[in-house]
Amino acid sequence: MKPTLGPTVILDRISEKRTDKEYMEALVSAETSRFFVLAGDKAVVDSNEDRTKTHVHWFTGLEIADLGLAVNEAIFLGIDPEDGTAKYAVATSEHYARGAPQARDALKSRVEVRTLATEGAMPQSELALVAQAVSLGHWHENHRCCGRCGGSMNIKQGGWKRKCWACGYEAFPRVDPVVIMAVTDGEHIVLAHEHRFPDKMYSTLAGYIEPGDDIVHAVRRETKEETGLEVGEVKLLGSQPWPFPHSLMLGCIAHAEYRELVVDAAEIEHAAWFSRIEANSMLSGIHSQELWLPGPQSMAHQLVKAWLSNEI
Ligand SMILES: [Zn+2]
Repeated sequence: MKPTLGPTVILDRISEKRTDKEYMEALVSAETSRFFVLAGDKAVVDSNEDRTKTHVHWFTGLEIADLGLAVNEAIFLGIDPEDGTAKYAVATSEHYARGAPQARDALKSRVEVRTLATEGAMPQSELALVAQAVSLGHWHENHRCCGRCGGSMNIKQGGWKRKCWACGYEAFPRVDPVVIMAVTDGEHIVLAHEHRFPDKMYSTLAGYIEPGDDIVHAVRRETKEETGLEVGEVKLLGSQPWPFPHSLMLGCIAHAEYRELVVDAAEIEHAAWFSRIEANSMLSGIHSQELWLPGPQSMAHQLVKAWLSNEI
């Protein structure tokens, strides 16, 4: 399985040095440091005319300041091992990028991160960086105030921690683990269309891991809740960071007996067993009723593909 949003670690996150305040202050103001801008869920990029090649646009610290953005609130992504430069992301709003006179032109070329992942024009290493920054950006957006006392949370360690100025409460960027599973009897697979999905899109079952769950238990619990099926053996096949907003997808295969599904109607509009032939036509976009599966950047796609080719 080869998911395209990661895991690709190309930068050194120097976690051992991030607690050194003076070092981090010197690093963010170093002339060689580079910054890219996230405006909401869009990254500022450079593209060729037909959009077959897309790269992150790197700004200098001075350029960031000229755009009216806060260099000292930049999120540290890591040190590039090739040239030793520090790389950062600066998060702002779509509203600011569109409206602020000094930012309008420089931030004009913005592309949704989901689109970047889908169109495959950005190198994998850069896409992984953008995904990392989006996850961190979402977390910061939702942790401006202390969950304990409501005080203001100051950014620490290059954005890898926030600390309440009033009560000292510390919060760290989180990931939400999600199990996503190919439930199969060997010759058929369970695919579902959730209410929130685009028209005719189906996917494998998935659900958040809850406190007290391990991976196997979460797969069994979610499969039972969503379809009424009892699952036997569960195997973890791989994992993938998914920055919408900050999930970690844990791809599994689970075995169940072929039997009638009892669907949880609150979440799922329709779920069914699909044959290998049908699943293959959905994956290839040639299904007779135009049912389709998410694109190759998704774990669901990779799971179905691996099952069809007997890799799992
Ligand atoms: Zn507090």
